[in-house]
Amino acid sequence: MKKTYLLIPALLAGFASLAQKPVFYEVNFPNAAHHEAQIIMTIPEAPAGTIRVRMSRSSAGRYATAEFGKNIYNVKAFNVDSSALAIRQVEGDVYEIPEHDATVKISYTLYANWVDGTYAGIDQSHAHLNMPATFMWYIGQEKRGAKFQFNDLDKYGWKVATQLKHEGSNVYSAPTFQYMMDSPTELSDYKMATWDVTNADGKKETLHVAIHSADTQPVVDNFARMVQKVVLEEKAVYGELPAYDFGEYTFLDDVYPTNSGDGMEHRNSTCIVSGGTDRIEGNEVRMLGTFSHEYFHSWNVKRIRPKSLEPFNFEHADMSNELWFAEGFTQYYGELLLVRAGFHTADDYTRTVAGLVNSVLNTPAAARYTPVQMSNYAVFADAGVSIDPNNQGNMFISYYYYGGATALALDLRLRSEFNITLDDFMRQVWLDYGKPYIPYTIADLQKSLTKVTNKVFAADFFKRYINGIEKNDYAALLAKAGFELRKAQPGKAWAGSLFLNNQRGRSGQVRATTDNGFAITSNTTIGTPIYKAGIDVGDVITKADGKDIKDAQAFADVIAAKQIGDKIAVTYTNRAGEHQTTITLAESPALEVVTFEKTGKTLTKDQETFRTNWLSTKVK
Ligand SMILES: [Zn+2]
Repeated sequence: MKKTYLLIPALLAGFASLAQKPVFYEVNFPNAAHHEAQIIMTIPEAPAGTIRVRMSRSSAGRYATAEFGKNIYNVKAFNVDSSALAIRQVEGDVYEIPEHDATVKISYTLYANWVDGTYAGIDQSHAHLNMPATFMWYIGQEKRGAKFQFNDLDKYGWKVATQLKHEGSNVYSAPTFQYMMDSPTELSDYKMATWDVTNADGKKETLHVAIHSADTQPVVDNFARMVQKVVLEEKAVYGELPAYDFGEYTFLDDVYPTNSGDGMEHRNSTCIVSGGTDRIEGNEVRMLGTFSHEYFHSWNVKRIRPKSLEPFNFEHADMSNELWFAEGFTQYYGELLLVRAGFHTADDYTRTVAGLVNSVLNTPAAARYTPVQMSNYAVFADAGVSIDPNNQGNMFISYYYYGGATALALDLRLRSEFNITLDDFMRQVWLDYGKPYIPYTIADLQKSLTKVTNKVFAADFFKRYINGIEKNDYAALLAKAGFELRKAQPGKAWAGSLFLNNQRGRSGQVRATTDNGFAITSNTTIGTPIYKAGIDVGDVITKADGKDIKDAQAFADVIAAKQIGDKIAVTYTNRAGEHQTTITLAESPALEVVTFEKTGKTLTKDQETFRTNWLSTKVK
C-alpha cells in the first residue's frame, strides 16, 4: 500500500510533463540584408530554480562538432511583463538564468551566412535554417515539443518549406525536441512540385520538391519527374516507403553559385544545397545523385537507426561504429539506383565502381584499419574544422567509400553464392530494425545477414571485412558481371600520387610557395616511392636526375622519361637543410574497371544475365 501511495504522485508528475506546453520561438528578420535574425524564445512553465539555455555543438547527421554559440549575441532574458532578468554566460554556448517567473522569455540575435546542410544562411532572398545552428534550447527541453512563428514572410515574399507540422498561417510545430532539431526550414520564394506514391499498405505518401533557384516551374516539374523515378527505384529495394510522420516527405533544395554543395538527411525531408550554378536546368543528372543518396537515408539511418546515435546528443560529437553501413551502403545505393533508373549506363557505372575498389584496395588506411574504426573517425572528418594539418591521407579512408566498396562486394557475393541480392538483406534489416524502429548494433546487422544467408557466411563476412581488414576478391566478383578490374597506368613509371586527394575533409596541406623548386603541398602517401624516399609535405624538390627542378611539371617530365624500377637521385630542401635521396620508381597501383566489351573480350550469356539482374530497373 505504501508503495502504491508513493507511485501515484510520480505517475501524475509523468503525465504533467507529457502535457507541458511547447517552447515557443518567434523568428523575425528585421535585418536580413546583414544576415541577421531576431529570435525570441518563450519557455512556459519554466522549471523552478536556475535554468540553463544553450546553443548546440553538434547537428544530427553531421558528426564533427560545430561552435554554433559563436553566432549569437544580444542575449537577454525577461519575464512576461517585460521586466529584465539577470542572465550570465557560463560557457561559450551556455547561459544561466538564476531567478525568473513561471514563464521566461529569452531574445537573441543570430548571424547566419553559410548555406549548407548544417549551418544557417539569411539574406533578402531566403532564410535557410538548420535548427541546431539557429535555435537555443534549455537543458531539460529534451522532453518538450516546440512551436515556431515565422514573421516577415510578406515583407520578403517568402513561403515556408519544412517537415515541421503546419498549425495554420505562419505557425509550425514539432512534437518533440529531437524532431525539432531534425527539421530544417527554408523560407523563400521557392518553386514546388508535388506527387503521391501509393504505398504497399495502400496508403498515400505525398512527396514534394521545393527548389529555391532561378529555374522556371516547367524545369522544376521535369526534375521532379526524374526524382520520382528514383523514389520508385528506392521503394523497390525495400518493398515499401516508410510511413512518413505526417504523410509527407519534402526535398528542400537551394541552388546558388556560391553555395557549398551538400545534402543532409532528415526523417521526413532532406536539406540539399547545390553550388556552381543558379539553376537545375542543364545540371539535372549531376544533381540527382544527392537526391538519390539522401532519400535512401529516409530508410537507412533515419529509421534503420544505429543505437550509438539514439538519442542524438547536441552537446558534443556523436560517435558511431556503424557509418560504413549507414553512409557506406547508402553511398553504394545512391549511385547504383541512378543506373537502375536509367540515368547512367553500365559503362558510366564502371568509373563509380573503380572509385570504390581503389579506396578499399589502394589506400594505406583501408590496409590498416577496419570499416568500424573509420566510422569512428567521422567525429573529426565529417566537415570538421581545424587550423592545424592532419594525416588523413595516411590514416583515414572515408567510410562512404570503404562502406560502399563493402556493399558492392556483399551484393556481388550474395548474387553469386546465394542467388539473392543486397536488396534482400536491406529489406531484412528494414523489417528487423527499421520499420519497428529498434536501434541496431553491428551484431544485429550480422543477425539479419544470417537470416538471409547462414550463420557461417554472416559470421565470416563480419569477422573478415567489417571487424577485420581483409579484402574481398573484387577482380573475380566483378568478372561475374563482365567487368574487368585492371591496372590503370600499366608499364608507366610512377613516384606517387602527389596531386590526388579523394578524402572528404582536409588532409595535411601547407602554405608552401616557391619560385625555385617543386613544393610538396600535401602529405605523401605511405607505400609510394616518394614516401619511401623520405620526402614529405613542406619539402621542396630542387634537383632530380641531375636536372634543376623549377616546378611540378619539370619533376613530372623527369619521371615520364623513366622506366619502372629506375632510381633517380633527388635533392630537396626543408627547414632542416638540404638533403639527397633516391627515389625508386614503381608502377602505380591505381585500378580501373572496364566492361569486357571495351577490352575486346566476349561477354558470356551468364555474365550478361548477371549484369542485367544487377543493374536493370526493379520497378514493376
Ligand atoms: Zn549520407
